[in-house]
Amino acid sequence: MSDDAADAFTYNGGRVDPGETANIRYGISETYLGDPVRIPVTIINGEHAGPTVFLSAAAHGDELNGIEVVREVAHEWDLADLRGTLVCMPVLNVPGFLAQQRYLPIYDRDLNRSFPGREDSTSAKRMAHRIFTNFVEPCDLGIDLHTSTRGRTNMLHVRADMADDDVSRLANAFSSNVIISSDGPSGTLRREASDAGVPTITIEMGEAHRFQRRLIDRALDGVRSVLAEYGLLAQEAVSWPGWRTVVEDNDEKTWLRADAGGMVDMHFECGSLVHEGDRICTITSPFKEDNTAVEAPFTGVLVGILENPVVYPGNPLCHLVELDEPTRRALERDQTPTAVDAPANA
Ligand SMILES: [Zn+2]
Repeated sequence: MSDDAADAFTYNGGRVDPGETANIRYGISETYLGDPVRIPVTIINGEHAGPTVFLSAAAHGDELNGIEVVREVAHEWDLADLRGTLVCMPVLNVPGFLAQQRYLPIYDRDLNRSFPGREDSTSAKRMAHRIFTNFVEPCDLGIDLHTSTRGRTNMLHVRADMADDDVSRLANAFSSNVIISSDGPSGTLRREASDAGVPTITIEMGEAHRFQRRLIDRALDGVRSVLAEYGLLAQEAVSWPGWRTVVEDNDEKTWLRADAGGMVDMHFECGSLVHEGDRICTITSPFKEDNTAVEAPFTGVLVGILENPVVYPGNPLCHLVELDEPTRRALERDQTPTAVDAPANA
């Protein structure tokens, strides 16, 4: 990029010149009535040259926390000295958002398995294509914000392909305690964007159907830190989260599953440190007898837990991530105990 001559941001149908901000509603499909389905996009092109970064949320229509993160960056931050361009897309999956559900209502398609999309394919892939070609491919990096699936919650963490140096730089810059590394399923925005040369990470934060202020603030800190790392906000500093663990993703294995049906009494909050042998939760019967204790098989941090307290055998209870000794000590220094009523056995 040349010294300080910022470029216009162009998309199919418009341009945003340096020093300009545009709020647009961009058509990505049509309803049964032939009306446009349009996503809100705010493009903030700084007066000074710099990288182009996209922020997106609600690729799953009921995952709301990220929407507020994107809106606050776009509309509440002072970006007068921005070096580069921000492409802010608070609601990618508009039909899912309107229905307050995860998937696109038509055939229950997952928009976040439909990238990079195709112009002449299914409705989901056409929508993905319009988003991808206009607002993702022109960027230098991206952050896609999600929450846990309905009925569960997770602590704020990053999902990123740490084997990719460019993605790893971005993931580290976000300043979260936990990074879960994998290249991600094909069709996800982060994987397809990264494969197309736009390093992208996913942020997981909290529950669906909520605005959770504490998590939103933490994610805003992460975005600020990323924009500092890449020079978009020269006055800000890259932050260090205090402790960090990078976990290789072995998917389902790290989810502890119920071996009995029942109602779950959870003894720890999401984000807590639990020691090997701690009773994480108890699966109780209607008579509160023959209860099943679920103990931590190793020492780690509870990255995710169920919120809806009813389980069949095989249902996930919690996502426990193992910690090495130095990380555990750092977390103990960092964290005041958040156990609700944990038995003191560690
Ligand atoms: Zn999601």
